[in-house]
Amino acid sequence: MTFKDLGIAQPIQKAISQQGYVNPTPIQQQAIPILLNRKDLLGVAQTGTGKTAAFSIPIIHHLHNDTNQAKGRKKIKALIVTPTRELAIQIAENFTAYSVHTSIKNTVIFGGVKQQRQVNALRNGVDALIATPGRLLDLMNQGILSLRDIEYVVLDEADQMLDMGFIHDIKKIIAKLPTQRQSLFFSATMPKDIVELSKKMLGDFERVTIKPKQATAEKVEQGLYFVNKSNKVKLLTHLLQEKPNDSVLIFSRTKHGANKIVKKLAQADIKSAAIHGNKSQTARQKALGDFKDGNLNVLVATDIAARGIDVEELSLVINYDLPNVPETYVHRIGRTGRASASGIAISFCDVEERPYLKDIEKLIKQEVPRMPEHPFMDDLETTLPLKEKQQPKNNGAKHKNKQRSKHNYRGKNNRNSRPSKSKE
Ligand code: AMP
Repeated sequence: MTFKDLGIAQPIQKAISQQGYVNPTPIQQQAIPILLNRKDLLGVAQTGTGKTAAFSIPIIHHLHNDTNQAKGRKKIKALIVTPTRELAIQIAENFTAYSVHTSIKNTVIFGGVKQQRQVNALRNGVDALIATPGRLLDLMNQGILSLRDIEYVVLDEADQMLDMGFIHDIKKIIAKLPTQRQSLFFSATMPKDIVELSKKMLGDFERVTIKPKQATAEKVEQGLYFVNKSNKVKLLTHLLQEKPNDSVLIFSRTKHGANKIVKKLAQADIKSAAIHGNKSQTARQKALGDFKDGNLNVLVATDIAARGIDVEELSLVINYDLPNVPETYVHRIGRTGRASASGIAISFCDVEERPYLKDIEKLIKQEVPRMPEHPFMDDLETTLPLKEKQQPKNNGAKHKNKQRSKHNYRGKNNRNSRPSKSKE
């Protein structure tokens, strides 16, 4: 199937082909016809699947056809709500790229910066607004913008909104929307609260599910190092020094941890920057911009800040900490190996993280390939923490881990070998 088969307006087709897209991704193939038909949609999918284009293209198509007839000052007819500033900016960039040959205008609003510039952009008139929930409500409360003309609304990354505590803001926003509208609801996971929220927002809807397994870029090669917590920085430094020109995204579970990694890398003369919620918007944008432009090779991010970061040529993802939510692992490694690029995802696992590893491997239904020896494993702890050892069912785990470590670390001694390819 090609984009031509989907019946999208000519100027949009031209823009898509200028982006280098030839074939629609699975979510695009399924969602675009439903949305062109003006039906509501529940999309169970995550970043990396091409979902931004899946919802933006039909909205631009409708707006383009509508504006062909409409005259006068532009009204905000489409609203896309997304949890983070980075995602909002990224969606706006994509939306602009797909609508470049139409007269559709969009703008993006988010918190953490002064509002005046955003207010000016709104006053100039836009067809589509991309917003984070807090700033959107703030400007609505100030009477600067209204949702009364909205015809198309997208709630993006709904589960992340919930995690970030935006649920009440979202409910307030939904309550202000006109009843006559097309609604799109996207979430990577569908816990009970999200199902309830989707029911509040959607009318008669169709569902499209793109499973994480498919979303995980098939070309991502995975590898795992067992390493003591105290040696993680040394191993990281060692790996980065081996690949000084690679574009590397490092995940840290905490903001404090991300700052610490940047500091330690600086001591080894490796330049990096951290992005997380405690950094100012300007600092985050600068770090991301430098990383995207290739002026900065190493970016350290927390999961929320990194969600949706879309960087071409990202060759390596390093999980400095293993995530305690297994789905997050899939999100993280999906940052590399995007659409056509191939990538590598390396994870560090200390003794306390072994239960997380077990959960991840259960979810992805495969063992993350173990990497051969590294220089910092002399005093490697192989036994699980005391509280786990005390549980009878884990008596065997201790034994298994010891065996595993023997098998993994003493078998080969080839530091440069690449991790084996994911079988997914
Ligand atoms: P998203 O899931 O929306 O963040 O998209 C992930 C990446 O895939 C972005 O870099 C898009 O530019 C790219 N992309 C989206 N649709 C296509 C397509 N049909 N062909 C190739 N790349 C695409």
